Amino acid sequence: MYSRLCDILSVDQIKLNEEMKHHTSFHIGGPADALVMPRSITDICKTITFCRKNNLAFIFLGQGSNVLVRDKGIRGIVIKIGNGLNRLSVAGQEIYAEAGITLSDLAIEAAEHNLSGLEFAEGIPGSLGGAVVMNAGAYNGEMKDIVQEVLAIDTAGNFKTFTREQMKFEYRSSIFQEGSYIVLAARLHLVMGNKEEILKTMQEFARRRSEKQPLEHPSAGSTFRRPDGFYVGPIIEGLGLKGFSIGGAEVSSKHAGFIINKGNATAEDVINLIAYIQKKAREKHGVELMPEIKILGEE
Ligand SMILES: Cc1cc2nc3c(=O)[nH]c(=O)nc-3n(C[C@H](O)[C@H](O)[C@H](O)COP(=O)(O)OP(=O)(O)OC[C@H]3O[C@@H](n4cnc5c(N)ncnc54)[C@H](O)[C@@H]3O)c2cc1C
Repeated sequence: MYSRLCDILSVDQIKLNEEMKHHTSFHIGGPADALVMPRSITDICKTITFCRKNNLAFIFLGQGSNVLVRDKGIRGIVIKIGNGLNRLSVAGQEIYAEAGITLSDLAIEAAEHNLSGLEFAEGIPGSLGGAVVMNAGAYNGEMKDIVQEVLAIDTAGNFKTFTREQMKFEYRSSIFQEGSYIVLAARLHLVMGNKEEILKTMQEFARRRSEKQPLEHPSAGSTFRRPDGFYVGPIIEGLGLKGFSIGGAEVSSKHAGFIINKGNATAEDVINLIAYIQKKAREKHGVELMPEIKILGEE
């Protein structure tokens, strides 16, 4: 069945039994039945139609920097929105870009055009699509500040343009997390700035990140959402869990809000460590820590 994907896409766009650890920043994850890399919105439409006709499950992935894929992998098709969908155009203070462009490329491109507002994205290792879905943010900036409009498609193949209000952006959340729509492209509104100053701010953010975050180890960024009134890092540190590990998964000693893969972590190690931290936080502080990372794949 999956080999019939060749009828709609070229061979180099399809990988069968592809280990998802090659497509996640955690470097963890078992095989997907098939992974496809669309080069156009038409490719996405063809793939969705193929899945519907053949009753196959499908999910979307960007750069895989906010996901944990289970060890048994993913049944069905993973549609990876990446380099094939990274076109961009700039008009005045607006950037229109496809969902697969990386946030860092987008931020550099904005700086090149003296456009300010994307500096916060420096160092967030995701795609534009993933960043819209997650309402990614840092250093007092987030996607909701700059996204004006999003072109999306639903799982039945219908296009829809979302306005800011319709996207229901909240802290690390948007309407797209409900899973009914796939982000294809976004129109961003930025403000005029000065290239040198924009780049200087981005460098400062990069410096702060490398000082505070365990960038030398694979991870998926902050493991948990920030609960009201608390910071996750200090809670976990206060539990004495910095450096605590289960299998190859470890609470980073540099930033307790990150779980890192010490080299051979399984998804099960990470899931067990998450559960352990949650239990300790509940017992000691009465705080329910909710994962920010999305856990995907067969249980
Ligand atoms: C070292 C490190 C630092 C990080 N720092 C930050 C930070 O400062 N701030 C922050 O907010 N995040 C941070 N993150 C987390 C992550 O980079 C962001 O959440 C990012 O926006 C995810 O984008 P992605 O393309 O990797 O999405 P993925 O991880 O591929 O996907 C995330 C979710 O969105 C869905 N999805 C992806 N693309 C689409 C699409 N086009 N349409 C519909 N659904 C889609 C996926 O199914 C999944 O549920 C960090 C991660 C790492 C590893």
